[in-house]
Amino acid sequence: MIRPARPRKLAKVPFVELAEGRLQGVVSSGSDIERVYVSSVAAGTYAFACSTNNNRPCGGARGTFCNHIRALVTEAVLQYGPERVARYLKIETADGERDAASLAQAMTDTRPSQADSSAAAAVFSRFLRHLAYLELAPATAPVPEMQWFPPTRAVA
Ligand SMILES: [Zn+2]
Repeated sequence: MIRPARPRKLAKVPFVELAEGRLQGVVSSGSDIERVYVSSVAAGTYAFACSTNNNRPCGGARGTFCNHIRALVTEAVLQYGPERVARYLKIETADGERDAASLAQAMTDTRPSQADSSAAAAVFSRFLRHLAYLELAPATAPVPEMQWFPPTRAVA
C-alpha cells in the first residue's frame, strides 16, 4: 500500500491514476452531479483528451488543457507527489519548482496536441471496476487496487 502524499478530495476527482502511459482519471462536473469528465494526458507528448461519460467532447479542452485536466494534475500531485508525476509524464522542470501549476505549465508550454478520445472508454471502465471494490464486505486485509483511496478521513 502506498499512502497518498497528501489527502485528496474524492468528491472533485474520484479517480486518478498513472497507468497505460497516461495520467488519467475521472473529474466531477462543477455544475451537474450527474456528469463526470474522463480526462487524460499522455506521458512524453502530453497529448490530452477530455470528454464526458457520455462521450461528448469537453468544450474547455480546445487547444490547451481544460480545468478538468488541470484538476487531474493537481490531484495526481496530491496522490503521488510531484516527483513521481513529473517522472511518469517525463516533464522536465527546475528542481524546487515542482508543484501542480508548474507541471501543468511545463506541459502546456510545449503546445501539446489533442488526442482522440479513444482512451476515455477504457479509463471509465477502469473507474467503474475500482468503484466495485466499494461494495466488498468490510475486511482488514489490504486490497491493492484500493490504494487510490486515501487512508485518511479526507472525503470532502
Ligand atoms: Zn475538460
